[in-house]
Amino acid sequence: MSSTGIAILGSTGSIGCNTLSVVESFGDERFRVVALAAGRNTKKLAEQIERHRPALVAARDEAAADELLAELKSRGVAAPRVEAGEAGLVAVATREGADCVVSATVGAVGLVPTLRALEAGKRVALANKETLVIAGELMTRAAREAGAELLPVDSEHNALHQCLRGERREEVRRLLLTASGGPFRAKTSRAMEEATVEEAMRHPTWNMGAKVTIDSATLMNKGLEVIEAHWLFGFGPEEIDIVVHPESVVHSMIELVDGSVIAQMGVTDMRHAIQYALTYPERHACRALPRLDLTKLSALHFEAVDSARFPCVGLAYRALRRGGTLPAALNAANEEAVSAFIAGRIRLTDIPRVIERVMDAHGVRPVGDLNVVIEADREAREAARGEIAKSEEASKAAV
Ligand code: MG
Repeated sequence: MSSTGIAILGSTGSIGCNTLSVVESFGDERFRVVALAAGRNTKKLAEQIERHRPALVAARDEAAADELLAELKSRGVAAPRVEAGEAGLVAVATREGADCVVSATVGAVGLVPTLRALEAGKRVALANKETLVIAGELMTRAAREAGAELLPVDSEHNALHQCLRGERREEVRRLLLTASGGPFRAKTSRAMEEATVEEAMRHPTWNMGAKVTIDSATLMNKGLEVIEAHWLFGFGPEEIDIVVHPESVVHSMIELVDGSVIAQMGVTDMRHAIQYALTYPERHACRALPRLDLTKLSALHFEAVDSARFPCVGLAYRALRRGGTLPAALNAANEEAVSAFIAGRIRLTDIPRVIERVMDAHGVRPVGDLNVVIEADREAREAARGEIAKSEEASKAAV
C-alpha cells in the first residue's frame, strides 16, 4: 500500500504533537509528513522539521519565518520551503501530496485553510471545532461538493462517528455527548465567581491546550460540541443531549429508536481519535497506547448538566436554534472573553455574561459565504471587547 501524505495545521500544539506521535508509531511505511504549519513555537517546529523533513512549512508571520530559518541553520538542517501568515496556512492545507489535512489550529484562524482543504477534496481530520461552529454550513457543503471526507478528531465526535457506523439515520433517536464536567463540576457558584486562572486550568481528566481547558471549565466546550455534532451528523438541537460523566471513559453515546444505547469507550488519550481519523475506514493496533482495563475502574457516574451554574451551555443551544451568524458571534465573543480571563482582566463567571450581551446585540443574518461569517466574527469581537472593558471597570469600581 502507498503511504498517506499528512499535512498538519497547528503542528506544535497538543493535537499536532500527538498526530506526529501516531505517525511515528507506524514507522516509515504508512504515513509521510508533507507539510506543517505552526504558530509561536519556533524551536519545536524546527525539531519537527528535522525529524519529519516536510517539503513545506508555514510560520505565523515573516518574523517567525526568519526565526525558524535561523534555528534550522544553527541545527545544520536543510530548510524546506517556508511561507507565512494565512497564505502559508492555505498552502499547507492544499499542498499536493497531502491526502489528509489535520486541522488543529486554535480558534478562528483555521477557518479559511480548512475550507480550502475541503474544496481541494482532501480528507480533513478536524480538531478545530470552532471551524464548524462558525461556518458549519459552508464546510459541510464544500465537503459534499468536492467529495471530501470530514473526520472528527474531537474525542466525543470521534466516538459518535464510531457509534454511528452502520446505523441508519432514521433509526437513531439522539446523540448523547459526554462531558467530564471540568474542575468546577462539584463547586459552588461562589467558588466559580472567585476562580483563579490556575484553578480553571486544572482539568480533571484531559490534558489539553489553554483555550479548550478554559472552555471545559465553563462547559462552553460542550456547547460548541453540540453545534459541531449538528453539522457533522445532521441532528437537530432537540436530538443532541449532554450527559456529565466525570471519568471520561465513555467518550459519547447514541440512542436508537428501540431504546438501545451504544457507547464508545477508551483510555483518555487523543491519539486514539487521531489514529482513527488518519486510518479510517481501516483499524490498526494502537502501539503507542495502553488498552482500557475495565477491571481497574471502580465506577462510572452520569449526571445532568447544571445549566444555572453553566450558562454557556444554554447560550450555545440558543445560537444553534437561531442559526445564521449567531453561532459565529457566540464563538467570537467566547474567544475574546476567554483571552481576557486568562489575562486576568475578567472573572470566569463574566465569560457567559459577555457572550450573552454580545449575542443579544448581534444582528443575525444568513450565512451566504465566508465574508458574512468573517464580518460577523469581527463585529462580535469588537462588541465583546467593549463588554470586557465594562466588566473590568465594574470590578475596579467594586474594589
Ligand atoms: Mg471534546
